[in-house]
Amino acid sequence: NILFLRGFTILFLSCIAIRLNLCLSSIPSSLKSLPLGGHLSFDELSLRSAAKDFGNRYQYHPMAVLHPESVSDIAATIKHIWLRGPSSHLTVAARGHGHSLQGQAQAHGGVVINMESLKVPEMQVHVGSSPPYVDVSGGELWINILHETLRYGLAPRSWTDYLHLTVGGTLSNAGVSGQAFKYGPQISNVQQLEIVTGTGELVNCSKEHNGELFHSVLGGLGQFGIITRARIILEPAPTMVKWIRVLYSDFTAFTTDQERLISSEQTFDYIEGFVIINRTGLLNNWRSSFNPQYPVQASHFKSDGRTLFCLEMAKYFNVEEIDAANQEVEEHLSRLSYIPSTLFSTEVTYVDFLDRVHVSEVKLRSKGLWDIPHPWLNLLIPKSQIHNFAEVVFGNILTETSNGPVLIYPVNKSKWDNRTSVVIPEEDIFYLVAFLTSAVPSSNGTDGLEYILSQNKRILEFCQRSQLGVKQYLPHYTTQQEWRAHFGPHWETFLQRKSVYDPLAILAPGQRIFQKAI
Ligand code: FAD
Repeated sequence: NILFLRGFTILFLSCIAIRLNLCLSSIPSSLKSLPLGGHLSFDELSLRSAAKDFGNRYQYHPMAVLHPESVSDIAATIKHIWLRGPSSHLTVAARGHGHSLQGQAQAHGGVVINMESLKVPEMQVHVGSSPPYVDVSGGELWINILHETLRYGLAPRSWTDYLHLTVGGTLSNAGVSGQAFKYGPQISNVQQLEIVTGTGELVNCSKEHNGELFHSVLGGLGQFGIITRARIILEPAPTMVKWIRVLYSDFTAFTTDQERLISSEQTFDYIEGFVIINRTGLLNNWRSSFNPQYPVQASHFKSDGRTLFCLEMAKYFNVEEIDAANQEVEEHLSRLSYIPSTLFSTEVTYVDFLDRVHVSEVKLRSKGLWDIPHPWLNLLIPKSQIHNFAEVVFGNILTETSNGPVLIYPVNKSKWDNRTSVVIPEEDIFYLVAFLTSAVPSSNGTDGLEYILSQNKRILEFCQRSQLGVKQYLPHYTTQQEWRAHFGPHWETFLQRKSVYDPLAILAPGQRIFQKAI
């Protein structure tokens, strides 16, 4: 009897294994039979590169990579997976430029869509409309949009600091830079979207038409649909930029000036800032394509080991308006309380200004320092808590070195649309504080991954313990409980939207918010 039972169990288990194998192996072949204009890759090289991102810490291999030629390739693939129902384990992740930090654009055993292959619609600039706009593919890089729109003397109004990112990738988060105080993040500068939902439906949407989907997708972490086309608002582009940096040793003077500047209509076109902690080495300076021309006095300024705060501003102008621009800049600067000998100023072309981080990328790549782990931490901090935060974090936690730039600048909440999915603090002004750290591979010291991660943890624990009302930007959590806490009162809406637009939780599994029901 025992022998019979054992034999039966082995047979039973073998059957299950065979069924499972058949099921798994039939998935690629059923995908292969899809009539696509583009193609699917199953080779090791493609799978490996779809399992990499800028963070360089998480690597989940997909089962296939889709290189779509058209929107219908994307719709057909998702529809196919949707129709197989919950019994298939397949998920789908759009991959923009793969500059996520913790595997957000990866799909373990699923299908990764290489959005940069999607070349439709061809970029089309509409000059005559008010405001002018450009229609672009969701896989388009912002740097390409800049070059194309400049041919018409136009450019988008709101940027990220780095332009080698895709439209779909930044709109899934928010897209924040020094223009956000004035125009809001990139998600506030989009008029229309074309989306393929988690059921494979192709839907056009805007604030007025299918508004719920439109707002869900913006800042939606890829959870509700694939952005295949976006209509982006443009403005007349300048040709030149006055780029200015001034230093403060007093944090209150620094934030008072930043907040005054972002609260006025008559101000700079770009306002950011960063913290200078014991700064040495190329990694710490990787964003500094800034090359001050004068005064010489400022470049000899010594920090004497103090933590300093740098206010960074830019004024756009056209060559023929240089005198007026200079005068305006003088007026704005005269109202600030920076250390008088620390005025660094330069003039660059508009393109060089916007593409400034790429210069550092080229430098770092040549030294093998770009493709290393990036344990970044990005926080949104209410204005009322920024002093408390700075005192503890810059005074106690990050004292020796920062292993990379630490950005800090305020934005106006009124420029953010609270119907979108992005989660922000409750106050009218909040700060973006970005710890853009690089970890030296196999170092066990303060520039190593483990040390930096433990520092990030200390920062997060302090924020939580002190109930600062901080929200993570480019959020990363591993449990649904943490996600619930992140969304707070918006969780129910997020859940409801998910149940409508991606009921099987097929999309963007790398965010680890939902698990596909099997
Ligand atoms: P990916 O990493 O490929 O994707 C990000 C997420 O969006 C994934 O979940 C993915 O599935 C989803 N997704 C991608 N494309 C689509 C699509 N078409 N439709 C739906 N979902 C999609 N952010 C700022 O706000 N401001 C900055 O100044 C800034 N600077 C940065 C500088 C550098 C050097 C780097 C590496 C990142 C920076 N970021 C900044 C963060 C950046 O905006 C995000 O990491 C963004 O997601 C990267 O875009 P990507 O095209 O590489 O997206």
